[in-house]
Amino acid sequence: MRCTPPRKIIVEASVAQDPSVAALRANLPSAEFEVVDEVHDTLSHDAGLLEVVRFRGRFLRPCPGTRRYHCCGYRILHFGTGCSLGCTYCILQAYLNNPNLRLFGNTDDLFRDLQQDLLASPHTLFRIGTGEFTDSLLLDPWTGFSRRLVPFFARQTNAILELKTKTDFVKNLEDLHHRGRTIVAWSLNGASVVRGEEYGAATLQRRLEAARSCAQWGYHLAFHFDPMLDYPGWREEYGEVLNRLFDTVPSERIVWISLGAFRFMPQLKATIQERYPRSPILCGEFIKGLDGKMRYFRDIRVELYRYMVERIRNVDPTLCVYLCMEATDIWQEAFGFSPERKGGVPAMLDRAVRERMGIEKP
Ligand code: SF4
Repeated sequence: MRCTPPRKIIVEASVAQDPSVAALRANLPSAEFEVVDEVHDTLSHDAGLLEVVRFRGRFLRPCPGTRRYHCCGYRILHFGTGCSLGCTYCILQAYLNNPNLRLFGNTDDLFRDLQQDLLASPHTLFRIGTGEFTDSLLLDPWTGFSRRLVPFFARQTNAILELKTKTDFVKNLEDLHHRGRTIVAWSLNGASVVRGEEYGAATLQRRLEAARSCAQWGYHLAFHFDPMLDYPGWREEYGEVLNRLFDTVPSERIVWISLGAFRFMPQLKATIQERYPRSPILCGEFIKGLDGKMRYFRDIRVELYRYMVERIRNVDPTLCVYLCMEATDIWQEAFGFSPERKGGVPAMLDRAVRERMGIEKP
């Protein structure tokens, strides 16, 4: 895995006393720290740099789904941006104004705002994830942020947390009081995709071993096959990953598995071609979807999904499988039902939380 600890940390003065900065100083004794009044956006990328800034926006926000496709009703806890794992297909390459790793250092504001939002809607079950604009655990060995976040969620009555990662940085989770309210989730992919397109991330083996450890520590798990790629041998490779997954962790600990075929905003194409000229992921034909993103033709998507759904159902017919950002007709063909028949995707996931985690909607 390519992730190395940050070499230099630039901290805005207004967050210099935050516990996350204290943790970075304690865990990175040989890193260079610089305190500045304000960190400005830059175009120059420095993989060894971490910026700790004051965030002035909303920490909790809805997942940027589109109304044209079925969305899972997830909420994002925005705690930082950027990722150094360097997946070729990473959507963040076209999304963020700033290429460097950035953490929001006003974590007391984050916890206060989050608590207020949860208290304001006591009858809503919040499914909250942190891995949308960065990897949830990428910096965790040095920030120890999970050691504050997981116990916070353990105290809530109307929220669960999902930590999504491609790392095996789970050590901090081992002895935490989680009260069964945290899901640890991994993105998985076929072996050649992991090797060729996710070369900065942990190997499949290490991700699965980390998942096994989390299951042993009583955590619930989730897995995301996203982006699924269409390439020669995908059936064998995705089938093999599922075999290894179900051999490694008990399926009853898995709350859900999501599937999403490769899609990208048109402006990402030039970036991928420039940065990863040997990557084959842009070979093949794509069409523009209703959300403006380029996608595989529907027959290819249906084939990918159908194969996975069938394989998963053979092992655990009641495991919740859902599609990320797909329309009703694709659901119908892949699953044999539309999400509406099950009350919609958010209701399906709420049900999975109830059935697999034993947590009722408040
Ligand atoms: S792990 Fe996720 S956020 Fe990081 S580079 Fe890969 S796709 Fe992007």
